[in-house]
Amino acid sequence: MRSVEEHQRIVAGLITARPAGTAELVDAERLVLADDIQATVSLPVFDNSAMDGYAVRADDVAAASTENPVKLPVAEDIPAGRTDIPTLEPGTAHRIMTGAPIPAGATAVVPVEATDGGTDVVTITAGSPQGRHIRHAGEDVAAGTTVLRAGQVVTPAVVGLAAALGRHELPVIPRQRVLVVSTGSELVSPGTPLRPGQIYESNSVMLAAAVRDAGADVVATAAVSDDVAEFAAVLDRYTADADLIITSGGVSAGAYEVVKDAFGRDGDQGVEFVKVAMQPGMPQGIGRVAGTPIVTLPGNPVSALVSFEVFIRPALRTAMGLPDAHRPRRSAVLTEQLTSPRGRRQFRRGVFDADAGTVTSWGPPASHHLRWFASANCLLDIPEDVQEIPVGSELQIWDLRPATMQSA
Ligand code: AMP
Ligand code: MG
Repeated sequence: MRSVEEHQRIVAGLITARPAGTAELVDAERLVLADDIQATVSLPVFDNSAMDGYAVRADDVAAASTENPVKLPVAEDIPAGRTDIPTLEPGTAHRIMTGAPIPAGATAVVPVEATDGGTDVVTITAGSPQGRHIRHAGEDVAAGTTVLRAGQVVTPAVVGLAAALGRHELPVIPRQRVLVVSTGSELVSPGTPLRPGQIYESNSVMLAAAVRDAGADVVATAAVSDDVAEFAAVLDRYTADADLIITSGGVSAGAYEVVKDAFGRDGDQGVEFVKVAMQPGMPQGIGRVAGTPIVTLPGNPVSALVSFEVFIRPALRTAMGLPDAHRPRRSAVLTEQLTSPRGRRQFRRGVFDADAGTVTSWGPPASHHLRWFASANCLLDIPEDVQEIPVGSELQIWDLRPATMQSA
């Protein structure tokens, strides 16, 4: 049997980065920058007011107080967005709003709170020293500065900065495009009635969700019966648009194993079928279809999703240049006694209690208990050579919680 590490390496070797491209800002989030970004404008773009108030010459209001207010004629009104920039004459004030351009000659802004808010004449009851409440051009970003670096993940703040600098797209390592195909003649789409012997098809939507959660794109999802021609037709239709094909089902030892039947069982048609020393997820396949990488997962839903976690998610994220390709690995104290099969690396579903630093296995190890996976937050990673795990043992877990829910 092939080790988990070996199969991980082979999957990772098959899935390679797409050439750098550009993404519109709305599509760039969670991608990795392929290039440094230089600012072509300064931020702020121009000197502007940090407050709603009155632009003045600081000298004109230096003596203002509640007892000795200064009255100035309001010569201009400058809302945000005014594009003809007036000049402030000495002894006058311009009413000005936050973000509006500072008029030539003004050296300070008096906040509206320190005035009577007048529109013809304003009464000012506090001074405003030179430069007060003025946001100066370039104080955040000077034009020409490198503001973002290749390899950085595009976060909401990165998107905002790029837009503030006038860019509508960013150079990125594009998302991997993944085709997800479920196989099985017993499967029907959720939302339609079941006949005896039929079950609802859950792997395609589940794996598509996992693909998106990994940061990649889904080209299409399809579910086909155990019919080689039907399976081949779906591959024909979508393969050219995909960087990776994921199938589920049809790779075990029985008859009617459509994926094995389609590619031949001896690996001479570009896909090899192997047993990986893990539980769940032992039957795996890997290769290329018309040049496109394909990874064939077992059909049991838990096996399919665990296999995705172990082999495909890290490979996809690595190919997209994402820094955190692997789920965080943590050490946790086991709250119960467990057994694990000899010679197989076991990935049980678990509940990790970050505060207590403990982990409890969640549901039976068998690969059809999806319900438990749905409320688990980690995988227990039990090494191949371990069979008895006493209560209180330190175990490695893979933290499946979204980054925002992780504390330690
Ligand atoms: P297979 O790997 O095709 O032998 O399937 C193993 C088990 O997983 C069988 O009980 C299938 O009915 C079930 N199964 C396979 N594919 C799916 C799917 N897409 N959705 C739900 N169950 C599935
Ligand atoms: Mg099947």
